Amino acid sequence: MTMLKEGRPTAPQAVTQEAGIAATATGNRALMLEEALIFEIGSPDTTGVDFAEAPKVESRLGNLARTDGIGLPGLSEQETVRHYTRLSRQNYAIDLGLFPLGSCTMKHNPRLNEKVARMPGFADLHPLAPQSTVQGVLAVIHELAEWLVKLTGMHSVAMSPKAGAHGELCGLLAIRAALEARGDARSVILVPESAHGTNPATAAFCGYKVEDIPATPDGRVDLQALKARLGPDVAAVMITNPNTCGLFERDMKTISDAVHAAGAFVYCDGANFNAIVGRVRPGDLGVDAMHINLHKTFSTPHGGGGPGSGPVVLSQALTPFAPLPFVERQGDSFVLVEEETADEHHASSFGRMVAFHGQMGMFTRALTYILSHGADGLRQVASDAVLNANYILRSLDDVLDAPFGHSGPCMHEALFSDKGLAEGFTTLDIAKGLIDEGFHPMTMYFPLVVHGAMLVEPTETESKAALDQFIMALRSLAERAKAGDEALKGAPYFAPRRRLDETLAARKPVLSWTDPALAQAAE
Ligand SMILES: *Cc1c(COP(=O)(O)O)cnc(C)c1O
Repeated sequence: MTMLKEGRPTAPQAVTQEAGIAATATGNRALMLEEALIFEIGSPDTTGVDFAEAPKVESRLGNLARTDGIGLPGLSEQETVRHYTRLSRQNYAIDLGLFPLGSCTMKHNPRLNEKVARMPGFADLHPLAPQSTVQGVLAVIHELAEWLVKLTGMHSVAMSPKAGAHGELCGLLAIRAALEARGDARSVILVPESAHGTNPATAAFCGYKVEDIPATPDGRVDLQALKARLGPDVAAVMITNPNTCGLFERDMKTISDAVHAAGAFVYCDGANFNAIVGRVRPGDLGVDAMHINLHKTFSTPHGGGGPGSGPVVLSQALTPFAPLPFVERQGDSFVLVEEETADEHHASSFGRMVAFHGQMGMFTRALTYILSHGADGLRQVASDAVLNANYILRSLDDVLDAPFGHSGPCMHEALFSDKGLAEGFTTLDIAKGLIDEGFHPMTMYFPLVVHGAMLVEPTETESKAALDQFIMALRSLAERAKAGDEALKGAPYFAPRRRLDETLAARKPVLSWTDPALAQAAE
């Protein structure tokens, strides 16, 4: 650790003299162009193409036929291409630089995956194609399922959930079906304080009462508090492992045993599987259901909320209640077991979650990723992800407060708090400063157990050089926030937009455009 500190790059002078930057006439900044809305650039009166005058025909819609234009902007092909290209340049992406969002696993997405996902046999698939014509596709789903079951040491896997949160829903529905099948419907789900926000949301969505379990001072589930709360009304405990403080729940097996002894089930949020893939099998820890975010651990570009896939691995106890459809191997062929074809093994299925089976684009990417890494490679992924996070933790814990830094190494993400910043300086100031330094901000104010949390997940795909540059930027910002550098409160200075009103932007987003002339006429 000392060696790391000695080798640390020093922070440069920060550039913040905003007053020195003159505004340009266009609003552009060097090659970063100010961009209006497409409705403001184009006009309904112009068009990018010249069509021959359409013959007048009697509308079959009668008096329902539209009499006015619909106000779509007319632009030439070049104008349209430029508009969207300029917008795309205002977007930060993992292909541009390090994306430190904690709990999101923004790793490099190998291009090989993209190539395979675009093969016409996968990409042009029709969900109603006869099963005999898509045997290869079903084989891919089946092989991926086998890998997931093997990597987790679980009994089976439901492949249809379309995201992590959807997987949570699948797991809880299976748990509810299992409890109801034994005539023991229960009403409470216990969720530790450090849980991901989707956990209590899913439990509440399923109609359960959600109760918090406190965290210990070292950021883990309070085992005694959990044991004390277990009882005949508790249906399940939802635990994120590794948890959102970036720590491994060491007592997991003891927790599972206690939960099972109380007749309840263990749901594990496995979205952070990246940290333990190939090293820990949740099945060995007594987990009954766990979603795996294929788009995180097994790579798929998922910025901006999608696409995703959240298969749920299930224990033997929950397997009979898994949702349909299900891919099964029958002799030499693969069969998609649906309601009509389900046999007694699937008679207790809780039902169906989606119209069509699975997210083929994510399945092909995930299996490509798994096969190109192999079992040893996946193990290495987890090791490198954890190493990178610890490098960040130990390179910054002298300038940023690491609330659980004393309790040993972290897993795949490093957690800092705002403790020690100068009066009036916040996590938000540091996040905005990071934008000026050319980085997407880390996850902020989450997990809630830490004040002003900054959660940094570098992933295994960043080089040491990239990590050092990020550390240098964050170090410089931490030093400025501790020294009370007022200029930091004005950041970002160099982004297309300055500091927005975060609350207003979240509570009153303006998502539609009204022609100012029409708006005025309406007043
Ligand atoms: C990302 C994440 C989720 C939710 O996954 P989605 O695919 O976004 O629905 C749940 N739990 C944890 C810990 C996560 O990191």
